[in-house]
Amino acid sequence: MEQQSRKTVQRVRHELRMREVSVASIAPVGEHFASITFQGEALADFVSLSFDDHVKFMFDDGAGNQVRRDYTPRRFNAQSRELTIEFALHGDGAASDWARHAQPGDRAIIGGPRGSMIIPPDVDWHLLAGDSTALPAMRRRLEELPAQVRATVVVLAGEGDRLPFTSAAQVDVHWVDSEDACSNACAHARCQRAKASPGVQAKRPPCAACAPCWPKKRASPRKRCASRPTGSRASPITTRTSSKRCSRRSAPLSPCGRAAPGASACAPRPSGSGARRLRLPAPASARPAACDARPPPPS
Ligand SMILES: Cc1cc2nc3c(=O)[nH]c(=O)nc-3n(C[C@H](O)[C@H](O)[C@H](O)COP(=O)(O)OP(=O)(O)OC[C@H]3O[C@@H](n4cnc5c(N)ncnc54)[C@H](O)[C@@H]3O)c2cc1C
Repeated sequence: MEQQSRKTVQRVRHELRMREVSVASIAPVGEHFASITFQGEALADFVSLSFDDHVKFMFDDGAGNQVRRDYTPRRFNAQSRELTIEFALHGDGAASDWARHAQPGDRAIIGGPRGSMIIPPDVDWHLLAGDSTALPAMRRRLEELPAQVRATVVVLAGEGDRLPFTSAAQVDVHWVDSEDACSNACAHARCQRAKASPGVQAKRPPCAACAPCWPKKRASPRKRCASRPTGSRASPITTRTSSKRCSRRSAPLSPCGRAAPGASACAPRPSGSGARRLRLPAPASARPAACDARPPPPS
């Protein structure tokens, strides 16, 4: 029971505050990121409870306009009142430009975070996927994960940003060069997860790489007998136990809702909810022909 509650996603709302901060230090991270640490007394009560939090970063574009962009609190030190954000220096965006030219003492405003979605770190398997702007959230999450947890990380990023991750968890990293490759790697990771975990059954079709050798799906009694007359009964047959099956495998962010920008985490369904179920097939005389097909034996 306690284990179940520990694996529940928790949402926490925070009072929205605007905090004035100034740049304390700047350091490069890989080729296309600047890690900028902001300092300010206004950060005294700053809270960031989850890797998925985001703040509104507000600054003057030099022409008197206030620009607002979303960023992940990468690190916060409550004692020194220092908040670090890692800025991707891509394209010619206003925030990228601001970060590229930032100097110690430059001022900005940090709004929020307004809320945190706390995904327990001890779910068995995490799938984190995104482009390079998700790297700060991914790095933060991986640093938080305990040793017994597995994580598959798929990142669409340039060579210069492919820095190693720090984590106690067992992390499998895939750096990719295109959105298609990113989707394929995620689909493959789900297949591998389903294959490696007894009782886990993928709900979506296997990925292209796994399809040729994918075990034939057992026909579900419910589907096979869809046209069966209601109320018919016979001896029971048993469907597969699925106590560790992901409860929303087809959704990228299951079951926790939204994760980091473009990143996803997949948690197992709490134990007990997928207990063995019994289905009652119709007597042969009442069954349509399709229902005579027996499910293949377990592979
Ligand atoms: C919840 C959340 C958290 C985020 N956390 C971070 C974070 O920690 N660090 C971070 O760097 N970003 C983060 N982002 C993404 C960041 O908000 C955007 O990249 C932002 O739009 C950049 O603002 P900009 O003014 O530089 O560019 P914009 O004015 O928004 O865009 C201008 C140009 O910049 C380029 N550009 C913008 N976004 C991208 C991109 N993703 N990839 C390649 N080129 C791009 C394009 O050339 C675009 O035309 C986060 C986004 C969200 C939603």
